[in-house]
Amino acid sequence: MPYDTITDLDQLIRRLQSYNPDAESDFVRRAYEFSAKAHAGQMRQSGEPYLQHPLAVAGLLTALRSDVTAVVAGLLHDTLEDTLATPGELEQLFGKDVARLVDGVTKIGKIQFRNYEEKQAENFRKMVLSMADDIRVVLIKLADRVHNMRTLEHLHETKRQQIAQETLEIYAPLANRLGIGWIKNELEDLCLKYLKPDVYAMLKLRVAKRDEDRQAYIQEVANQVQAALAENGLPCEVQGRPKHLFGIYQKMERQSISFEEVYDLTAIRVITDTKMNCYAVLGLIHSLWRPVPGRFKDYIAIPKSNLYQSLHTTVVGPKGEHVEFQIRTEEMHRIADYGIAAHWKYKERGQVDDKDGKVFSWLRQFVEWHQDLADNRQFMDTVKLDLFHDVVYVFTPKGLVKEMPKGSTPVDFAYAIHTEVGDHCVGAKVNGKIVPLKHQLSSGDAVEILTAPTQVPHKDWLKFVRTSRAKTKIKHWLKIEEQKRSVEIGRRLLEREFRRHDLPPAQLFKSDRLLLVARDLGCESADELAAAVGYGRLPTAQVISRLIPRPGGDRAPTVEETAKSGVPKPVEKGVKVSGGRDLLMQLSRCCNPVPGDRIVGYITRGRGLTIHSVGCPNLEALDYDKERLVDVEWDTSAPSIHGVKVSVLAVDKTGVLANVSASISESEANISRAEITTREDQKAQLDFVIEVNDTAHLDRVLKAIERVDGVIRARRVRAWQAR
Ligand code: MN
Repeated sequence: MPYDTITDLDQLIRRLQSYNPDAESDFVRRAYEFSAKAHAGQMRQSGEPYLQHPLAVAGLLTALRSDVTAVVAGLLHDTLEDTLATPGELEQLFGKDVARLVDGVTKIGKIQFRNYEEKQAENFRKMVLSMADDIRVVLIKLADRVHNMRTLEHLHETKRQQIAQETLEIYAPLANRLGIGWIKNELEDLCLKYLKPDVYAMLKLRVAKRDEDRQAYIQEVANQVQAALAENGLPCEVQGRPKHLFGIYQKMERQSISFEEVYDLTAIRVITDTKMNCYAVLGLIHSLWRPVPGRFKDYIAIPKSNLYQSLHTTVVGPKGEHVEFQIRTEEMHRIADYGIAAHWKYKERGQVDDKDGKVFSWLRQFVEWHQDLADNRQFMDTVKLDLFHDVVYVFTPKGLVKEMPKGSTPVDFAYAIHTEVGDHCVGAKVNGKIVPLKHQLSSGDAVEILTAPTQVPHKDWLKFVRTSRAKTKIKHWLKIEEQKRSVEIGRRLLEREFRRHDLPPAQLFKSDRLLLVARDLGCESADELAAAVGYGRLPTAQVISRLIPRPGGDRAPTVEETAKSGVPKPVEKGVKVSGGRDLLMQLSRCCNPVPGDRIVGYITRGRGLTIHSVGCPNLEALDYDKERLVDVEWDTSAPSIHGVKVSVLAVDKTGVLANVSASISESEANISRAEITTREDQKAQLDFVIEVNDTAHLDRVLKAIERVDGVIRARRVRAWQAR
């Protein structure tokens, strides 16, 4: 049996050399001895020396016809997890590849499978594949699982159930996905044995009994086929099919039918030499017995996604019973059994037609690449598992797996959990460590989002979020917020106008009179009217002219005119709007004005009043209407603190940074940020953000810096200025 459990080293080496005569037995021997030493004294639950396990795993890898590297890694696969061996040691003794494979297997072993919903299980399988950067890692893991399942009887009942369940949910489907039929079938049957022992025992017994009864009949059908094919010169081999108990159980469960109904089918497999002959065999069988309509499937023209190929047909056999045929070439048979592992060797025979591109999935690519490559070693080195290159799989704190596009950040993750979590996220922990919000997540990461009720979405987040869900949610929030602000600004602009015309604002806003005007102007409500004004879509003059019809037409008074009539009122510490009511305001970031700078206010559409320096090119470049400019001045009654960017050019020598910092502190200014860049010309550029009260204070600081030995010049930097 090629898949049986190997129990000694010589047997292992013989198996390896049977398909790979060049394999160095010495390399394998060294790995075996290292593993023996590392695991010395350890026992399996069965009471066997632990070494039997890695030996068996390596043996199963030879059943998959793995290369020496994978077999050696199989011998060493538990040394990082269970012994004192280190990755460095493995690399030194057995090379980079072996060390990397063992490390990969160890990493996958650490994933906790805690939730078995269908979607979750699928994500786990994908996670395993995406975490392994080499298909051999997954194959070693599968071999490991096969041997553990074969020896499961030695474990405690609860552990047994848990491992069998995990195998059924994750590893058997993984084997199926990789097209390795025998591993899938063996794992499934072993799962059935431990999860449904009664069903397993019943099926085993009935299948054996049935087979005994039917042997003669199957043989008769097989003989007839064999004879007909030989007569027509078609080379072939006719076999009965191995029994897959889990498959029978599944059919009984899914279709709610009896054992007899499932197993009544006589199943026969015909293996021939070429694809053309598969169809010839099919034709012959159909000429012998009448095909059952709707039961013919051409998996040769349209392979399954795991590259399985065969023709399936059911005919009404000699005794009027249904007989199921599978027809395939030897190569297809090998692929059905070995899947991805089939492509390591025999490349000269791997002629698989690739015309029907639409159904060919990733596995197909392995074959195609494989055919271009010079040797198997190179093939395996090149086959990186980038099957899921555009997604990552991460854990929630509850152990659920989320699939995210590659490049996703904690903010994307937060919005994937819930809008509320996204809107209020302030930070994140990845694998227990705090990371910035724009940190990119990797497969296997455990992500925990930190929230604060005061946090709100930031426009800046749009620059790094990856998912459209996060983008939409952030934009939605910003839009609502902008609407709220527009209503507020519009209301204030209107109130100011109303007062100027001796109209009582508070009453007016509640009155039907304003509502009528609003409707007249195409707005549903007074708030909508205010928003239109706030956005700048509607001049206040139009509202006023409808409230107080004037013969002189409806020329709008400018904001400046309006401003002059009002009473000044400070609104933000440090700035007063001449004649203005309190408006939302912020100092513009582009010119970052400081008390002492000449300033001007600009009523933005939806973001309140921004204060710019007079002469700020951004303001001049703005497509603004003069009506939205407002006179503002610094309120010197209450001192305030402002961050200013300062750039210092100095000779690159030790102590300069310290001396400059000291001079800033001595000028009673704080440094809120500092960055030093060494230039090629032996000069250093020091960039600071310094907190000052006003321009006079800033001048003092700059002068103090320039007095420091080695400083060439110090100047204030505005965002618009080239440095
Ligand atoms: Mn193991």
